[in-house]
Amino acid sequence: MVHLTAQQKTDLAKIAQAIVAPGKGILAADESTGTIGKRFDNISVANVEENRRAYRDLLFTAQPSSELAQALGGVIFYEETLYQSAQDGTPFPKVLENLGIIVGIKVDKGVTQLLGTDGETTTTGLDGLDTRCQEYYKAGARFAKWRSVLKIGNGCPTPLAIDENAHVLARYASICQANNIVPIVEPEILMDGDHDLEVAKDVTERVLAAVYKKLNEHHVYLEGTLLKPNMVYPGQDCPTKYTPQDIAEATVTVLRRTVPAAVPGITFLSGGQSEEAATQHLNEMNKVSALRPWALTFSYGRALQSTVLKTWSGKPENVKAAQDALMVRAKANSQAALGQYQGGAGGNAASESLYVKNYKY
Ligand code: 13P
Repeated sequence: MVHLTAQQKTDLAKIAQAIVAPGKGILAADESTGTIGKRFDNISVANVEENRRAYRDLLFTAQPSSELAQALGGVIFYEETLYQSAQDGTPFPKVLENLGIIVGIKVDKGVTQLLGTDGETTTTGLDGLDTRCQEYYKAGARFAKWRSVLKIGNGCPTPLAIDENAHVLARYASICQANNIVPIVEPEILMDGDHDLEVAKDVTERVLAAVYKKLNEHHVYLEGTLLKPNMVYPGQDCPTKYTPQDIAEATVTVLRRTVPAAVPGITFLSGGQSEEAATQHLNEMNKVSALRPWALTFSYGRALQSTVLKTWSGKPENVKAAQDALMVRAKANSQAALGQYQGGAGGNAASESLYVKNYKY
């Protein structure tokens, strides 16, 4: 029988806890080459390796670095980034390690359709994952991310999609842990549709319950994992309006019903919310008076990078201003992770919706 050793468990738990230490969250900078290409299209930047490197360099060397490190416990890389270096020649994993920021890696290989469903998907990437984890560990990665995607409406998510995605997430998590890598388990329920908050609540509860059942069946060591869920959010086309407090209450209620207290942290995805909305919702969650046994923090991609990308626009003379924009958002989210955000960071531009229909990562 193969088991994690006591030492492996201790190490995994330590990494997971460090990533979500008070006031810290995650910068999801793991856009695949295709996805970063879409971001670059919006700012008319060519999707070539040097531009991708220069952009990530900008993110990881934002100043003051001590403040960046106070806000970020981890950064998620795409595979290419793991082997690239900053302008001064320092490998990116080393740049972050020097700051005490833990390096993560996206290990899934994207989604594929499930036959006989209304466009539901499962996530690929299990084949060869064990070997890849060994290589990523050598290159400095200490945690990983795997994104499963579910959608609401027209009978979705079906029991097949829920069960299949819970299964691949659990299998992924066990392979990571066997290789001393903390798995971030990400079952994202999209905000596409006109469903209300009650429906989002019901579906998120069913999905998370299924995920934790499978993690249990696969003997995943929960203390050495993190969860990356969607916030419980009404569909983009839902006519009913809800307050940030409604969303925070609904989300915390669902998490309390489904996520074991052994899990050290819940690091939300932003999912198409505006930068400001994502920060405000996180802040409200950290003010909900019910017992919350896990850290509630951020693992944002779009909601940390939207203004940064626009400010940069691929021009070297804008690097400093773009880095300043990252610091504004990182600090705001760090405050929100403590329930201390006062609002208004980034001005009106930060309230622009980042929603894209049927979003592909
Ligand atoms: P968003 O915050 O842009 O939703 O992305 C986070 C992420 O890593 C999705 O997999």
